[in-house]
Amino acid sequence: MDHLKAKIRHVPDFPKPGILFYDITTLLGDARGFRDTVDALAAPYMGEDIDAVVGIESRGFILGAAVANALGCGFVPIRKPGKLPSRTVKASYSLEYGADSLEMHDDAVAPGSRVLIVDDVLATGGTAEAAARLVKQIGGDLRALAFLIELNVLKGRDRLPGETVYSVLQY
Ligand code: AMP
Repeated sequence: MDHLKAKIRHVPDFPKPGILFYDITTLLGDARGFRDTVDALAAPYMGEDIDAVVGIESRGFILGAAVANALGCGFVPIRKPGKLPSRTVKASYSLEYGADSLEMHDDAVAPGSRVLIVDDVLATGGTAEAAARLVKQIGGDLRALAFLIELNVLKGRDRLPGETVYSVLQY
């Protein structure tokens, strides 16, 4: 997977001082990089009868939609508050300073559906934990969470006890 790592741009001090941002636009813009990324995310779930891939706004939309297409299943967005037009469920989570929340249509997956959550980066795990809560709240059967990048030092997995967590690239 080193050829994927080589295509990710590291941007220091973005969006604020002290953060090293993993910019995947350089990977997505490369034909082989994008294809191999989607293949790597989808491979463990081929034949797992996933009913829906849930992608987290916004880079999770790009990867999640492509993974859903590869798996031959539907795609469902989890969005920032106020963006989804129909009835939603909401989950809040804490950030370093303050809190944020995410929303999902309350009928986005049928009860018992086998769901895979996809996002680009697992950092502290707050975003993923909130997404997992939403999927379960509406009755989804959360099979796994898949990330392109996992930042090991931030221990995001620890916020997802009991869940199956997969990451393509570890840092
Ligand atoms: P967290 O809730 O801390 O796990 O953060 C995960 C979300 O924030 C993901 O949706 C990522 O897109 C974004 N994110 C967090 N840290 C980074 C980083 N160092 N580089 C790029 N994206 C990040």
